[in-house]
Amino acid sequence: MGQNLSLRDARHIWHPLTQHKTHGMAHGIARAQGVYLYDTQGKAYLDAISSWYTAVYGHCNPQITRRVAAQMEELDQVVFSGFTHEPAVSLSEKLLGHLPGNQEKVFFSENGSTAVEVALKIALQYHFNLGAPRKILLAFESGFHGDTFGALSVSGLSVYNGPFEGMALEVRRIPVPDDPDAAQSLATLEAILAEAPVAGFVYEPLVQGAAAMKTHDAAGLDKILARLRETGALLIADEVMTGFGKTGTNFASAQLETQPDLICLSKALTAGLLPMGITSCSAQVYNAFLSDSVEKGFFHGHTYTANPLACTAALAALELLETAEMQSNISRIAGAHRDFETRVQSHHKVLATRRIGVIFAMDLDVETDRYGSLRDILYGFFMERGIYLRPLGNTVYILPPYITTDDELARIYQAMEEVLEFIS
Ligand SMILES: *Cc1c(COP(=O)(O)O)cnc(C)c1O
Repeated sequence: MGQNLSLRDARHIWHPLTQHKTHGMAHGIARAQGVYLYDTQGKAYLDAISSWYTAVYGHCNPQITRRVAAQMEELDQVVFSGFTHEPAVSLSEKLLGHLPGNQEKVFFSENGSTAVEVALKIALQYHFNLGAPRKILLAFESGFHGDTFGALSVSGLSVYNGPFEGMALEVRRIPVPDDPDAAQSLATLEAILAEAPVAGFVYEPLVQGAAAMKTHDAAGLDKILARLRETGALLIADEVMTGFGKTGTNFASAQLETQPDLICLSKALTAGLLPMGITSCSAQVYNAFLSDSVEKGFFHGHTYTANPLACTAALAALELLETAEMQSNISRIAGAHRDFETRVQSHHKVLATRRIGVIFAMDLDVETDRYGSLRDILYGFFMERGIYLRPLGNTVYILPPYITTDDELARIYQAMEEVLEFIS
């Protein structure tokens, strides 16, 4: 039956981020519950990356699914220009209570890329509305912000934007800060600022997800943010990955001094149940769009903006995040990662380790071409042991759901230690 599903899939489906000529067939997944995915053969896989950082409260969590099911009977979808509804309003109230104090308004879309796209357009139009247009956007090297055209332009990962280089927005890049002085980042920044003012700076605060969980220095980032704020550039925190507890605080920006003007959210926002993105902003940003002339408004809107079911999922998810139980789960996992790091750090096959909150990454000391496709071998190694994670190059990283038990964490760690012996 599973094989049959994969064959039917291969006939008509084009998968994301996949070179179909060299890639094997897609693996059929039949259901998911808690921290486990079950394939069509009934084999269970521990979801060690929370299905791309979304299902952090566990899959098919009844505290979320029941609420959404009830909402579904009440109001399914309605146009959000001119209309409003309780789930959207309640969500805005609750979410803003957790975001940095300067955040006042939320704008809805459907995913992380569109949340970034909206933030970039708001940043560019903000300066236009103030009568001093700015064209240049700033981003970190090796950042990832999504794959719609604007989000792709500010992303630095070449596998995504290679074919489109030079066709999109005007973007300058600075290196991530390695230390509190951020000397190299600031020097590059000053050279950029000497040429033209920057409209907005988009950054993944503290950890760059798609760059194999590359962490950077918080004090160094603060220096960059403070310098940019002096220039009137809008600060855009892309918390699509880091949001909702991943870094140990509800939002990574809480660990920084300088607060963003705009924040992009998605992924765990709806706990993996339904797609939604949110771009929040300060009153200062919002006020620049208020005018007697219509065209100074923000003319951007998607058909499914603020879908009531997605808003309900997000509301139920936030209520779970707020519980003492979930907060203590987050620190429990962070503590377990710390102990595990001490254990593997000095292994001769470990080049480096990184951790922040529930995120743990280890770089393996293997020549990437020694095994042909190292990534596929590592992936297969873990899947065979019933653990789902997605290695990136020579990096193995995990971001387990907050409800992962100590025993389940131990199983993941054990497989990660076994892989070190396997490649030795
Ligand atoms: C995943 C991700 C995005 C893109 O989100 P999608 O929902 O996949 O469009 C943007 N920014 C960051 C930091 C992400 O991790």
